[in-house]
Amino acid sequence: MARRGSATTGFTLIEILVVMAIIAILVALIFPVFTKARAAARQASCMSNLRQIGMAMLMYRNDSGELAPHLSSLHPTYIPSPEILICPDDPAEGCRDGDDYMEGDLYLSSGVSYTYIPNWKYAATLSWWRPRPRYGPGKWEDSTPLAMCHWHWAAGKEWRKELQIPSWGTDPKGWVLVLAAGGSVHKVRAEIPADEFSPDCY
Ligand SMILES: [Zn+2]
Repeated sequence: MARRGSATTGFTLIEILVVMAIIAILVALIFPVFTKARAAARQASCMSNLRQIGMAMLMYRNDSGELAPHLSSLHPTYIPSPEILICPDDPAEGCRDGDDYMEGDLYLSSGVSYTYIPNWKYAATLSWWRPRPRYGPGKWEDSTPLAMCHWHWAAGKEWRKELQIPSWGTDPKGWVLVLAAGGSVHKVRAEIPADEFSPDCY
């Protein structure tokens, strides 16, 4: 009798497996949605950072007549919180061996995630920036790229641990975020080489 009772009130192994399979399918469907939502939130936060950096740079230019020598030069006068200089998708939170283009923690110990295009020698050869006076708008004036974030595209890649600047065009899926000298922020597809940026890309 007991055996019959358990057969009518309990679940069979197959029923349990079916329920588990349904739950697994639901999780598989829902998980990417959450992952994408979190990625979109990090990207929105980064774009907000870039806009604040753009406004800070405009104020710096109004006061001094030239661009800041580094992005970290904007802190603390024009960017009180150094967290603004960190992209939420940057695995090293801005701290790495840097140079003037991608400064890392070279000048600011809390780190800088963003690249600073005026200090990129190649950008000067492309006439993005006038070589003299030392800093100034280039051939597109307000549309000239000023700073860039590639971490939303780059952070998940195999070389993430190496924390190296990616070569352009290795993965066409994804976007880089570009701050223009006029203060606007644009998504530019990662497969467009940096030297082929133009206001049309924006
Ligand atoms: Zn970013």
